[in-house]
Amino acid sequence: MDPLYKQYPVHVEDSLRRSKELLTPVSEGRVGMYVCGPTVYSNVHLGNARTFTSFDFIFRYLSHLGYKVRYVRNITDAGHLENDADEGEDKIAKKARLEELEPMEIVQRYTVDFHKVMHQLNALPPSIEPTATGHIVEQIEMIQAIINSGWAYESNGSVYFDVNSYNHDGGTYGELSGRKMDELQAGSRALDGQDEKRNLADFALWKKASASHIMRWPSPWGIGFPGWHLECSAMSTKYLGEEFDIHGGGMDLKFPHHECEIAQNVATNGKKGAKYWMHANMLTLNGKRMSKSTGNTILPSELFNGDNPLLVKGFNPSVVRFFMMQAHYSSVLDFSNDALLAAEKGHQKLMSAWVKLQGLSSSKESTWNLQAWLDKCYLSLSDNFNSPILISHLFEAIKMINQSENQIPLEQSDLDVFIQKMDAFIFDILGLQLDEQGSSQSDALDKAMDLVITLRAKARENKDWNTADIIRDQLAAAGIKLKDGANGTSYEI
Ligand code: AMP
Ligand code: ZN
Repeated sequence: MDPLYKQYPVHVEDSLRRSKELLTPVSEGRVGMYVCGPTVYSNVHLGNARTFTSFDFIFRYLSHLGYKVRYVRNITDAGHLENDADEGEDKIAKKARLEELEPMEIVQRYTVDFHKVMHQLNALPPSIEPTATGHIVEQIEMIQAIINSGWAYESNGSVYFDVNSYNHDGGTYGELSGRKMDELQAGSRALDGQDEKRNLADFALWKKASASHIMRWPSPWGIGFPGWHLECSAMSTKYLGEEFDIHGGGMDLKFPHHECEIAQNVATNGKKGAKYWMHANMLTLNGKRMSKSTGNTILPSELFNGDNPLLVKGFNPSVVRFFMMQAHYSSVLDFSNDALLAAEKGHQKLMSAWVKLQGLSSSKESTWNLQAWLDKCYLSLSDNFNSPILISHLFEAIKMINQSENQIPLEQSDLDVFIQKMDAFIFDILGLQLDEQGSSQSDALDKAMDLVITLRAKARENKDWNTADIIRDQLAAAGIKLKDGANGTSYEI
């Protein structure tokens, strides 16, 4: 039988061509996918987590279809400056200075946090997770190749990509982001270090390290460190080849990061790197992009514990993942407590139907058209990974499950396929998790706490302040805080 990817060929939205394209991998049956990973100088926020969850879902679906996927997602542990115009401190070095730690202590701490969050969200680990600092040699080689091609120049110990001469020779810098060269060159600010550049649009491949810069390596141009854009070109080429299939990242990385990556790739080997450039859309909070630099963020841990004034309670990570999957990866998604509560209801409905399905028996003949339903599900996923449409088809199946008393209108062989496919869609592809134990434990805890809160209220009614205080203090010692409010008492762990 043909692999599923032949039955349901995938179309992807390609940001470079600005159209939906049939995915035709460089090598039959295999997909190479590179996704820009986090800069590990702070805890990942929910927006970052959304982008990585979107690509995890894409990785899961491509693997499910039978592709052998090599998924490379890097860790940026050097070279990402505070400002896109190649100025400011290295983000990691700055944090290390402020906290009086080694840069690698910062990197370790936030890499661990990143992995923990992605594990909680049930994201699969990538096939390879290379670091920028582990690939300095490859980056220096790439800079040398770009200098040899004539599109980079050294200036005062730094090396810059010469955007003007590259475009003059037929390069297409600006193609991905739609920016014009004259826009790029018209900078009104006189920036630090910009006088080293021939043109404002030029970007750093290598930066000379000042005496105080702690992350530094020797190079043919002196002691310095690589530019941020270079690491992704060097590592994607090393692990996926000069031409591979998908390059992903958040929308905000289109410019300058991916624009620069494409130029570096072409200048090194004549190819753009990926055949398809995919961009995940932003998670917003109060209508504004969730962003570390503006402080407009929620941390996944706050969402899981309910430890944030915007939330009435904590949410199971699978509910958070379901909330993300209810939106298409290329649409903006606005975060709110109400949206999470609605996702929790939907998630619960889906999981209850899944549990009910296990207890249903088959019918003599199938009166529900399983194949038509399966085709709809696969076609929505193969149409640029449309998770919300898939979920709407799952809910159609849930309706049928919920209408079934003991018997489902499917004969045994169809019922077996149906259960197997529901399992694949819900757990393998959407990556949701059935938290029976967690939810029954939290139900039991809620009931026990209701009882304790009632007993304390009774004690207070009877002016038995001693008992009321003991209850409150002992709970506090166990890490449970009682909160007295206008609508009664609630608790927080
Ligand atoms: P950074 O660590 O800043 O390099 O970002 C890691 C990833 O998170 C990148 O792919 C960004 O595009 C993505 N990202 C940053 N902010 C958001 C957001 N508000 N919503 C979705 N993705 C985001
Ligand atoms: Zn990157």
